[in-house]
Amino acid sequence: MGTLNLESVSFRYPGRGETVLDKVSLAIPAGGIFGLLGPNGAGKTTLISILAGQLRGATGSISAGDEPLEGLRRRRPHSLGLVPQEYAFYPMLTCAENLRFFGAVQDLAGARLRERVAAAARFARIESALSRRAGRLSGGLKRRLNLAIGLLVEPEILLLDEPTAGVDPQARAFLLESIRSLAGAGRTILYTSHYMEEVEAICDRVAIIDHGRVLVSGALSEVTRDGSGLQELFMQLTHRSLRD
Ligand code: ADP
Repeated sequence: MGTLNLESVSFRYPGRGETVLDKVSLAIPAGGIFGLLGPNGAGKTTLISILAGQLRGATGSISAGDEPLEGLRRRRPHSLGLVPQEYAFYPMLTCAENLRFFGAVQDLAGARLRERVAAAARFARIESALSRRAGRLSGGLKRRLNLAIGLLVEPEILLLDEPTAGVDPQARAFLLESIRSLAGAGRTILYTSHYMEEVEAICDRVAIIDHGRVLVSGALSEVTRDGSGLQELFMQLTHRSLRD
């Protein structure tokens, strides 16, 4: 795997007039965490959904290393993992049942399935909650289960859409530490968050988008080089705060 390269990617929802992504070009290198920032409605989830293969019809090109992303997805569907903003598990099942189910639908079986379920649970530190019903967990544990499910297949490209939303500060610190430890080893991580301090803490590179356009992108140290923090830069560029 190499850089995830987006060139002039544009998208409209069918039947809607407005362009939601407008010639988005980004280079997301492997081995670090790339933070995607933008106010509500900027197009972040749309972009992540396109990368995950859930939305079709984008124009422009997207490649992973030296092959089209579409080709990689077809050849090795599990090289790409998505941790969506919504809870993506069955509330009536226990954590262990959810992990086994989502492992099985991604072609894991037998000893390998058991091994991956145990590793993902260990990583997300939900071992003590494995026999509890997912729907009854605290917000922090639900987020951790969401993350564990996304990591079952050890994806090389990991798309994290607001993985810490609604989590209390202590659980958030733990989740951030875990996410940080996933970087490296050739893995590409795209991370969206509403929490600017999170992005500053764990991302190597960032892009700020608004109205579907890239306003700035580059190494965190480069884009904030004039001394202003990310928050200030964001407000200068978008004329909005992140929570607007
Ligand atoms: P963000 O994740 O940055 O908040 P989104 O990608 O969710 O932004 O939304 C970008 C734009 O696309 C918004 O104007 C939103 O209303 C619109 N949009 C999102 N999902 C749909 C959909 N399923 N159908 C039509 N428009 C949508």
